[in-house]
Amino acid sequence: MPSTQTLSQKVEQKLYQAAGAISAFSYPLGWEKLEIDENRSLWASYTPNYVPGPPLKGNTTADLAIIGGGFTGVSTAHHFAARYPQKRVIILEAKSLANGASGRNGGMMLNWVYGTGPMSEETTRRVYQATSKTIDDIEKTIKTNNLEVSYRRDGCFEVFTDEERAVEAQKEVAYLNQLGIPIQFLDAAAVRQHIGLNNIYGGLFDPSEGQLNGVQFIRGLRPILIEQGVEIYEHSPVLKIREGSTITLTTPEGEVKAKAILLATNGYTGKLGYFRKAYFPLHSHVFATSPLSQEQSSKLGWRGTAGFADDLNRISYATQTKEGHLVFGGGSNISYGYLFNNRTAFPGSPDSAGPAFRDMQKTLNSYLPGSEKYPMTYRWTGTLAISLRRNCSIGVRGEYGNVYFALGYSGHGVTAANMAGRVLTDIYSKSDEKWRGLPFVNAPFSPIPLEPFRWMGYQMVTRLTGRSPREPFR
Ligand SMILES: Cc1cc2nc3c(=O)[nH]c(=O)nc-3n(C[C@H](O)[C@H](O)[C@H](O)COP(=O)(O)OP(=O)(O)OC[C@H]3O[C@@H](n4cnc5c(N)ncnc54)[C@H](O)[C@@H]3O)c2cc1C
Repeated sequence: MPSTQTLSQKVEQKLYQAAGAISAFSYPLGWEKLEIDENRSLWASYTPNYVPGPPLKGNTTADLAIIGGGFTGVSTAHHFAARYPQKRVIILEAKSLANGASGRNGGMMLNWVYGTGPMSEETTRRVYQATSKTIDDIEKTIKTNNLEVSYRRDGCFEVFTDEERAVEAQKEVAYLNQLGIPIQFLDAAAVRQHIGLNNIYGGLFDPSEGQLNGVQFIRGLRPILIEQGVEIYEHSPVLKIREGSTITLTTPEGEVKAKAILLATNGYTGKLGYFRKAYFPLHSHVFATSPLSQEQSSKLGWRGTAGFADDLNRISYATQTKEGHLVFGGGSNISYGYLFNNRTAFPGSPDSAGPAFRDMQKTLNSYLPGSEKYPMTYRWTGTLAISLRRNCSIGVRGEYGNVYFALGYSGHGVTAANMAGRVLTDIYSKSDEKWRGLPFVNAPFSPIPLEPFRWMGYQMVTRLTGRSPREPFR
């Protein structure tokens, strides 16, 4: 007799096969429009005087035109301009720098690249080294440039809500330690020495991980980029891309003729006609409290650790900032949403997602009893690109090999999108030996059907299984 889980896995597998077949049907892009709302996050509240740069007016040229001013776009501009100081680099941002996921996330600065599937020992080591170097680089950039950025690096936990998974994780740690990867397994009591979490059976602790205010980081880098010669145009949405050996980008008031472009638009990329079947834009709600005092934090049991995420399909993630704000996202079906027609903005005010926020507060309280008494001072929603296997892809495509891209990091993009700048610059300069063979370089995506099947499929899977659609690696 097959177990229920095996049966449901089989049913899910059939669904994904059907999804692959349905995805052959096309759906006109003209029915969708780009929506980008204001960033209301806690992170943005720390740059109240930020004045966006001017929009692009008139015609110009570029060696590299970057579309999108999040971690991917900004890290690429930074690395590329350092390698090629004589080349003309332009960033075109639809709203203002860090208005997208990079300025709205949970702030966890994590190792690993999500959704890579099983890896050999050597690849495991290379991926870990690449991400931990990226976290080191972020810290170095902040320190070298004296940026005013709130961050901490006192480690993050992945906690286990299931005993069997905790036992498996313990075995995994022994294997990783053998490879020289310094991750620790802590039993529940030891985890509670760092964060007093209920309902857990232990956790993986990576002391090199941390937390970052992405808005302060990206906006803080703006003058550095300008000094490097990068031209930054904000309130300049790219409306049309015409490919060729020279690519033409059209904005409401201008045009760029570029030798190469970078799609650094993550969850918004489909609106430009690219990667439409590769991912779906997922909305994730996040809230933050006002700063807790040291006494309040230690009463709650939060001592000297940047954050934790759990092991559930609808991941809960939480951090505490250096200033004392508790930040929490995810934790249930209702705390995530896919909206018909790939909408990229969650409509209305945070009250529109009122039930989701109430549900999230209960989840946080179940982990950290007593947290419920701290009001949600900040509530916001961010859009991220989720692929079926949760994998990201960083690479280059197009008839002329001049359309660079990096997207699909799921909830693991703070580090990976900052790493993308180095990967892409190396690919551009054909000095990418150290990235070759890594599972995120030019990685294929499993196809997801377009509407109306996409919305129906999402509803069916989330309602029937309580889980997000996710195809396992075969
Ligand atoms: C709520 C939430 C919580 C998350 N939590 C975490 C976490 O704790 N840890 C973690 O590692 N990752 C997390 N992530 C994921 C991570 O934030 C993202 O993977 C990462 O920030 C993606 O960066 P990006 O630069 O590629 O995209 P984005 O930051 O989304 O930037 C894309 C930019 O492109 C602009 N744009 C879009 N279309 C156009 C156009 N046509 N023309 C010009 N500009 C355009 C947008 O305005 C935006 O500024 C979270 C994401 C969300 C949404």
